Amino acid sequence: MTQAFVVDRVHVRAPGKINVFFAVGDVDGDGYHEVASAYQAVSAYEDVWATSSDEFTIAVTGTVDIAGVPLDDRNLALRAARLLAEEIGWDGGVHLDVRKAVPVAGGMGGGSADAAAALVACDALWGAGLSTAELHRLAARLGADVPFALLGGTAVGTGRGDELSPALARGRFEWVLVTSHEGMSTPTVYAELDRYRAERSPDIAPLLRRPLVFPPVLQALRQGDPHLLASASRNDLEIAAVRLRPDLDDILALGSAEGALTGLVSGSGPTIAFLVEDEDAARELQVTLSAAGHSALRVHGPVPGARIVPD
Ligand code: ATP
Repeated sequence: MTQAFVVDRVHVRAPGKINVFFAVGDVDGDGYHEVASAYQAVSAYEDVWATSSDEFTIAVTGTVDIAGVPLDDRNLALRAARLLAEEIGWDGGVHLDVRKAVPVAGGMGGGSADAAAALVACDALWGAGLSTAELHRLAARLGADVPFALLGGTAVGTGRGDELSPALARGRFEWVLVTSHEGMSTPTVYAELDRYRAERSPDIAPLLRRPLVFPPVLQALRQGDPHLLASASRNDLEIAAVRLRPDLDDILALGSAEGALTGLVSGSGPTIAFLVEDEDAARELQVTLSAAGHSALRVHGPVPGARIVPD
């Protein structure tokens, strides 16, 4: 007699991201900004365990402050599970255990990683067998950064950031992240950028309609060259994040003075990502920043997207 193999718990790990380049263009017809982003998935991971259940429930723990994480249907991981259930006509539920290591509201796409992990975990738990393309379509409906958390590695995102193409990347880049106790809301940072640009509009050239990732960024990623990446990286949201949180400028200045090749606000902030030459430089900078009273952690990239982990 054949014994059916029933999976009742699935563990998926998904990475946070750094935008090594982020250009913000005009607002489109729906009020969204067009962006051009080079994403790198980094080794700060979210772990999600999906267990069979009749209801949709979630529990969240973490090595980061999880106070800002909603435990109801606003949680992106639960929304992902519900969306998949609707899509495949699943009439049961799921319990999600989320262990967060990506700073909450830090501009590193932690919620998006949870959503990507929940999609992959529930797909396996419920035996849905969706194709990668189908999972990406659902991911894009959940948020602009969710498709990248599925894909991982290095990629270029255009449109709202969700039109993704994988980018060639060689080697491993070392980063030191400085996290903040208080998160920042992405819409608030975009609104501040709009205000800043409106104030300066008589002085600056008209915006690009279609922002593009600078070719030297792609070259640096292809060559695994941190010096070239440091000179080509840029984040248009940085000026807005720093206007809202002037202390970020002090952290950027400290990291640069202490040997970082460059410092970037990650996404909409407030996490700051310092690119360094190698692991030794990362260790040194982490010690220096910690001694100055900052929460600093070392990560590397690129790393893979949401994957099932055999427990
Ligand atoms: P984004 O750039 O997508 O706004 P972020 O990367 O800065 O986000 P996240 O940690 O993803 O930061 O969370 C942003 C907000 O989303 C949080 O403040 C929280 O209210 C809400 N949220 C919803 N689901 C989650 C989740 N699973 N983990 C963390 N935050 C979540």
